[in-house]
Amino acid sequence: MKKDKLGAIRLTKQRKVILEELKKLNTHPTADEIYFIVKKRLPKISIATVYRNLKALSAAGYIITLKTAENQKRFDGNMQEHTHIRCVKCNKIHDIEGKIKLPQNYKNLKTNFDILGYNIYLYGICPNCL
Ligand SMILES: [Zn+2]
Ligand SMILES: [Zn+2]
Repeated sequence: MKKDKLGAIRLTKQRKVILEELKKLNTHPTADEIYFIVKKRLPKISIATVYRNLKALSAAGYIITLKTAENQKRFDGNMQEHTHIRCVKCNKIHDIEGKIKLPQNYKNLKTNFDILGYNIYLYGICPNCL
């Protein structure tokens, strides 16, 4: 058997196509947007399959799931360290190279939570909307 396992999941044809298409984009598409793109290469794929595979790819660390201010999840195939900035006018999410450094004292904040991490979005107005 050919070993194409990376992480905990097997990269099926469908997952490979989803991954390839997602990596071509820097627009942080929604699952629906990915579905329409992937459908051009895999006409028989269903939206449910796309959702399921996005979830699996994200859980295995191949892609990032972004929870944005909108109720829809967005997906990111860019696994380089980067920061997200959302345009308050058009809602588009852009990438900024590099990661923001947070003061480490967040770990000392008083909470009963076991803090696993943090997530920072910047927001502003993109060049297109300015
Ligand atoms: Zn904008
Ligand atoms: Zn990104």
